[in-house]
Amino acid sequence: MRTELAGKAVLVTGGASGIGLACAEAFRAEGARVGVIDRRAGPGVVEADVTDEPALAAAVDAVARGFGGLDAVVGCAGISGPVGTPLSATTADDVARVLAVNVTGQFLLVKHALPWLADGGAVVLLGSDSAFTAAPGMVPYCASKGAVVAMTRALAVEVPGIRVNCVCPSVVDTPMARADLGALLDDPAFPVQAAEDVARQVLFLASPASRPVNGQALLADFGMSAR
Ligand code: NAD
Repeated sequence: MRTELAGKAVLVTGGASGIGLACAEAFRAEGARVGVIDRRAGPGVVEADVTDEPALAAAVDAVARGFGGLDAVVGCAGISGPVGTPLSATTADDVARVLAVNVTGQFLLVKHALPWLADGGAVVLLGSDSAFTAAPGMVPYCASKGAVVAMTRALAVEVPGIRVNCVCPSVVDTPMARADLGALLDDPAFPVQAAEDVARQVLFLASPASRPVNGQALLADFGMSAR
């Protein structure tokens, strides 16, 4: 079956695990050509750390040159940092490390992918509901995701012809969330979505179906922030 994304060239960072992996698989299932960048080695992964600008630029160029350009870019590489650590024990280095990956890494991705993006192309960044709602012990992470939402708007007005949006899910069952939240994910009273759910949100924002949507944050949190 031909889909709107069939044949499109898509670059996904953080595609070796969790949401990025689900996105790569979902785009492939639509018939898209998918390149993955991750700091972790894996089959078909171009290895680069998104905070290492020369390495990231070379990786983006390698993927995009192989495809002859890009139609969509998805920034899933991210870290949670010292979740659960009280403010008194959170260091400036903790903040700098989380901002470097979650904010600067997304900025560098868009900057270096931009020359390869076709007119009408789409960028989808991973934000989080933590941009809008907070829990104790998450100051660096919440700060980073708030920055992703603001940067999404700024990039959208900066770059004519390219749409930039972000998805902001609540807890998603991935290795990151398992490491941070453990058995809470298995509590039936705790609302958790699957990485595949987020992938469908990303696909919508990357596809022509969302053509008028630009500079937006899609808050997918089961309505929790509306209470
Ligand atoms: P994950 O740990 O399963 O996957 C993250 C991937 O990013 C890994 O493959 C990792 O190697 C890669 N990565 C991390 N730092 C990198 C770097 N510096 N350079 C290159 N690659 C790097 O995590 P996930 O839950 O799939 O998270 C993906 C994104 O979704 C993150 O931005 C995260 O903040 C966001 N998010 C996650 C949740 C959740 O509950 N899991 C909720 C909202 C938003």
